[in-house]
Amino acid sequence: MSREKLLSDVAGEVVVCTKCGLWRSRQNAVPGEGSARARVVFIGEAPGSSEDVEGRPFVGAAGKFLEALLSEIGLSREGVFICNIVKCRPPGNRVPKPLEVETCVPYLERQISIVKPEFLVTLGNCSTAYIFSRAHLPFFGITSVHGKFHEVFLDGVRLRVFSTFHPAAALYNVKYKDQIISDFGLLKKGLH
Ligand code: URA
Ligand code: SF4
Repeated sequence: MSREKLLSDVAGEVVVCTKCGLWRSRQNAVPGEGSARARVVFIGEAPGSSEDVEGRPFVGAAGKFLEALLSEIGLSREGVFICNIVKCRPPGNRVPKPLEVETCVPYLERQISIVKPEFLVTLGNCSTAYIFSRAHLPFFGITSVHGKFHEVFLDGVRLRVFSTFHPAAALYNVKYKDQIISDFGLLKKGLH
């Protein structure tokens, strides 16, 4: 079966999923989108309100910033794969609860194993914490790991993880905006 078909099978399951309580308040689940052959998979936290309305990841204000960052380093939405740790919007954009993460991540795990990227880029604390714990690496917060590449093995598969702050943080604090821009510069260097 093609990677595209396998990914659309995952998406088909996500849009009707009722495995955790988040389905009750969603308008649309947001499986993720992009190239089935992407070298780089970007992982955010959870859909926000624009994403919930459209059923697509990173289409609101944070998404516009992410698109600008991608284009600045020669990438496009279509050339990468963009998704989130949890696929349904938590009410009021609260942080996903540990049980919601645990229930939803098998979808992400399948997406990663289908796309087989070389790089995972984790955006913000939530996805960074998950991938570090999954790789049995100690994690002391995004502030101490951002802007660096870490080699990880997920079920024996070698990947390189690069973490930065969540693009939404840049909308609240210019300090984060500058740091994300400089992290993306480092990401660009490491991708070549
Ligand atoms: N924030 C996220 O973490 N993901 C999105 O898709 C949008 C905003
Ligand atoms: Fe299912 Fe994930 Fe949505 Fe929960 S957040 S209902 S596990 S798709």
